[in-house]
Amino acid sequence: MDIIVTARKSPTRALIENCLEFYKRELKLTNSSYSLVVMTDRGMGTKEGMRGVVYKLGPKVIGMVIDTALDMERLIITMAHEMVHVKQYARGQIKHSKSMKSKYWMGKRVRADYYDQPWEIEAYSKERVLANKVFAMLNEDKRCTKLNGKTQRAKAVQKK
Ligand SMILES: [Zn+2]
Repeated sequence: MDIIVTARKSPTRALIENCLEFYKRELKLTNSSYSLVVMTDRGMGTKEGMRGVVYKLGPKVIGMVIDTALDMERLIITMAHEMVHVKQYARGQIKHSKSMKSKYWMGKRVRADYYDQPWEIEAYSKERVLANKVFAMLNEDKRCTKLNGKTQRAKAVQKK
C-alpha cells in the first residue's frame, strides 16, 4: 500500500507519515494493492464534529481526511481509528452502495446506529492498542536520546 500525504512539509506531516506507515505494517496492509491518499483539514473536528473520515476515492484508492488541529495524542489515536477503516476497505470487509445509503459488512447489509456499526466497534476496539504502541515508541525515543546524550558525554570525557 502506497501512502501519499498531501500536506506541506512540517513536523505534523512527518508524524502523520510515520504513524500511518507503522499502522499499515501492524494491520498487515504492506502488500495491499490499494493506495491511500491522506488530506488534512485543520479544525474539521469543531466544524463538522468529525476528527477524521475514510472513504473510497476510486476502485483501488482510499481517501483519508484528518483534523490536524487535534492535540498530538488525539491525532495519533484518530489516525489509528481511521487506519482500521482503511484496512476494512482494502480487505473488502466494508462496502457501500453508490448512493452511500446502504452499507455492507462482510457481505451483509447493516442498518445500525453509529456505535453499533460493526466497523466502528472494530475501529474503537483497536485504536487504543495501536496508538499505545506509538506512545511507547515515543517514550522510548525520549529515553534513547537521553541515553545517547550521556554516552556521548562519557566518551568525550574519556578522550581527555
Ligand atoms: Zn470510525
